[in-house]
Amino acid sequence: MKFHSTRGQSPPLGFADAFAAGLAPDGGLYVPETLPDITSLLAKHEALSPSPASYTQLAADFFTLFDHDHTPEEILSLCEKSYTSFDAPLVSLDDTTSVLELFHGPTLAFKDFGLQLVGNLFEDQIRRTGNSVNVLGATSGDTGSAAIHGLANKEGVNVFILYPEGRVSPLQERQMTCTGASNIFPISIQGSFDDAQKIVKDLFVDLEFKKQVGLSAINSINLARVLGQCVYYLYAHLQLTPQQRAKGIEYIVPTGNFGNVLAGWLTYKMGLPASKFVVATNQNDLLHRLFTTGHYAPGSVAPSHAPSMDIQVASNFERLLYLQLGRDGTRTAALMQEFRDHSKLDLTQHHFDNAIFTATRTDDAAILENTRAAKERFDYIADPHTACAFTDLTSDAHKILLATASPAKFPSVIEQATGHHPTHPTLEALKEKIPLFHTPGSDAAEVKAFVQANAAK
Ligand SMILES: *Cc1c(COP(=O)(O)O)cnc(C)c1O
Repeated sequence: MKFHSTRGQSPPLGFADAFAAGLAPDGGLYVPETLPDITSLLAKHEALSPSPASYTQLAADFFTLFDHDHTPEEILSLCEKSYTSFDAPLVSLDDTTSVLELFHGPTLAFKDFGLQLVGNLFEDQIRRTGNSVNVLGATSGDTGSAAIHGLANKEGVNVFILYPEGRVSPLQERQMTCTGASNIFPISIQGSFDDAQKIVKDLFVDLEFKKQVGLSAINSINLARVLGQCVYYLYAHLQLTPQQRAKGIEYIVPTGNFGNVLAGWLTYKMGLPASKFVVATNQNDLLHRLFTTGHYAPGSVAPSHAPSMDIQVASNFERLLYLQLGRDGTRTAALMQEFRDHSKLDLTQHHFDNAIFTATRTDDAAILENTRAAKERFDYIADPHTACAFTDLTSDAHKILLATASPAKFPSVIEQATGHHPTHPTLEALKEKIPLFHTPGSDAAEVKAFVQANAAK
């Protein structure tokens, strides 16, 4: 299996090379050259009862369809290392509504499904090539801590994560700064998330530096993250009863960068039965506007109760665009150029699988109201991101709401809505530990010097 760039100007690569590249040289994102039919894979797994062991096997069988650089045994071992310690249970709320809980991994958010695997793939790559890697990224919360926990204590890789001082939640900061791992360097920056992101971008275009330290990114466009996220859609399906399946399945997905819901749609294109994907945004409603009007026009970001969905551009959307344009890389590249020039796109002439996608928008007041209503109606405590999935439960299909973070990560919003203060032992344990972070300064040159001095060699 080869992977093609969405902009059509870079040579197709195998799985390991596409993984290592992250972004294609032409600026595009890698997409599998074909979407394999997973019907027989699903049928094989019908016989197994859902458990972490069957999750690992399912993930390995799925990856074997895409990764021809590792043997099936190597893939199984990578998946065992990545997933044995957590599960994705489907919790029933009532006859037609279930929640797929994706927050039982090390950092209590769904990003662990992609980033645990990415961590093990990096380790494997370093072992095979003998070249060390230095990962640099900026975070407003969940991605940074999931990346840190995917890579902590791995040989040959050091991780530098920039975050804006005082702008990530205290628990998220502790998740990043209390690992005790000597290869992890959390860096606190004066300024906003955009300032941190800007430093990272400046350092990635410094090609000499990039080469010198073997700089790698760990962002949501990495192919392995998207494929890693396909697996839990299959696993959710396997946990449904025949009666539930007979009603049609609607997946409701709290959405920011479009990575999670894209994975669901790709799985559908491979044969997963689904009647609808609901793109559930918060007040930063770029994608809600796209799916309701056909116009893709970012506004400015307004910080919300669901911070991991506070986005300006939905990077993974380019993959949908490319596939919906019949894999026309030239056309995709032209549209992305038009987007760079005008900061908006008129896509009213394109049909984004309109029959399968719908969208909802949930502002902060509605997040509080949904949180309260979920507790009252279902006795369920939802985190503020997951709360966005509760906005429209009127369809007759069986609804699967994707729960993307543990409520214990956002106790104050939940307390405000329900009076209940959720906790989690993993987070409580962090309160005993000593945070370690670095403050090399807040401009690119200072951060560069720090990375050079502490790079894995
Ligand atoms: C990242 C994140 C999201 C958004 O996921 P995308 O793949 O960016 O659409 C939703 N909820 C939580 C808790 C997250 O961390």
